[in-house]
Amino acid sequence: MQLSILTLLYLIASVTFIIGLRMLSHPATARKGNLIAAAGMALAIFGTIFLYRDENGNKLHNYLFIFAGLILGSLIGTLAAKKVKMTAMPEMVSLFNGMGGACAALIAMIEFNHLSTLLSQVPDITYPVAFVTNDGRSAIAGRLLIILAGLIIGSVSFAGSVVAWGKLNGKVKDFSFKGQHIFNIVLLLIILSLAALLIFDFTKSSNNIFYLIFGLSIIYGVFFVLPIGGADMPVVISLLNSFTGVAAACGGFLYNNKVMLTGGILVGAAGTLLTILMCKAMNRSLLNVLVGSFGGGSNAASSTQTAGNYKEITLNDAAVVMSYASKVVIVPGYGLAVAQAQHVCHELEKLLEEKGVNVTYAIHPVAGRMPGHMNVLLAEADVNYEKLLEMEQANEDFKNTDVVLILGANDVVNPAAKTDPASPIYGMPILEVEQSKLVIVNKRSMKPGYAGIENMLFFQPKTSMLFGDAKGVLQKLVAEIKTL
Ligand code: NDP
Repeated sequence: MQLSILTLLYLIASVTFIIGLRMLSHPATARKGNLIAAAGMALAIFGTIFLYRDENGNKLHNYLFIFAGLILGSLIGTLAAKKVKMTAMPEMVSLFNGMGGACAALIAMIEFNHLSTLLSQVPDITYPVAFVTNDGRSAIAGRLLIILAGLIIGSVSFAGSVVAWGKLNGKVKDFSFKGQHIFNIVLLLIILSLAALLIFDFTKSSNNIFYLIFGLSIIYGVFFVLPIGGADMPVVISLLNSFTGVAAACGGFLYNNKVMLTGGILVGAAGTLLTILMCKAMNRSLLNVLVGSFGGGSNAASSTQTAGNYKEITLNDAAVVMSYASKVVIVPGYGLAVAQAQHVCHELEKLLEEKGVNVTYAIHPVAGRMPGHMNVLLAEADVNYEKLLEMEQANEDFKNTDVVLILGANDVVNPAAKTDPASPIYGMPILEVEQSKLVIVNKRSMKPGYAGIENMLFFQPKTSMLFGDAKGVLQKLVAEIKTL
């Protein structure tokens, strides 16, 4: 009876995960979707703690450890989520994802120990045990395969995520050496060969091989992420996220736990889809992301020297052209998030609308520092979702736009992506703002954006620079427009 209640709880939890994921796809429902999936997870966790029985009818013990872990983890998670700045969100996601990978690797270690202890207690055991060729023991080989998959994928995800976290917060620099990709491939082949050896030829010394595989997987995770360029980190984090999902699904197989399996598969699939979508948004292949070394330090322009003449616009002139325009498109970028200028930006939008100006926002899929960054930022300021245009639609609209106001965006409007085959961002779809009648760019200096490259848009005749911190500039702009 209890088992069937637990199965029902797992089913409900699985359904909430799917509904939650679906709701995450729109800003209006995302918050609720997150809560629904979290409630499902709570059902699955507490159902397991109180209702689970093993094949001998024993329930879980170790309640002290379980609840100590739960309370500590919840405290750390809540505090971290409350404290984290929006711009540091990818770092937190990366670190938490790494913890998931570590859990999967630890589960694999515990289960390996169980398995080898059980084997050593079998009276007629003779080493080496050739599981695969011995029909009676092929089930053990299957179990070992899942344990090893969980260990390898979980360890790579853990080590890779920690390096990605370090890179995003600037503690770890891009690093690569000649032949690194060959080194990585050879290392991976060694890991896989050792895993095969362990399954085909299990001996008393297999414990050592197991921990060797663990160590090499950690090294592989580090070297897998180290050379990847800073600007590609979100794609890598998403990929590592899908690894963690697969590693967790291995745990689901091991414990015959359906909700763990469903959750793992959903994370694995969602992470893979997000990885593909992000690669598409940048018009790059996954291979190019993994070996392309794009962004971060390597491409950074060495100084603030500029490639030509640019002109500036005064606050008053900017206020006038926007007030008397019939259509204004705002392009938000990373700088808007840093300046926390979303509220005053919304105020500007309302003010212009009151004057009869049609105002919309053009959202680039990789603007900011995490997928959906601009949507979350503007939602925080209560900007109407209907006003957010996706890139394709915005690019259609620019030719009918009087003024484009760029607020702390750079790479996502850089025409080099279309015109300069030598540029590291060549091929990435951009917001084609130069099709509009006038472009006003707000940033603090002529320094490059995340990819570290010059932006020729700033030197075009249609473009005028409006220097200053986005929040301060917008506040002055709002005050100026009110006087008109
Ligand atoms: P960029 O990083 O290209 O440019 C941001 C600009 O904002 C800078 O040039 C900076 O210029 C300006 N800025 C910084 N602070 C302020 C401020 N307080 N007020 C006004 N301006 C400011 O941002 P984009 O959004 O255009 O592009 C995102 C980039 O980040 C892409 O290369 C993308 O690939 C990458 N990326 C994206 C992630 C994602 O998932 N969305 C995650 C990680 C990276 P100045 O210093 O002169 O003020």
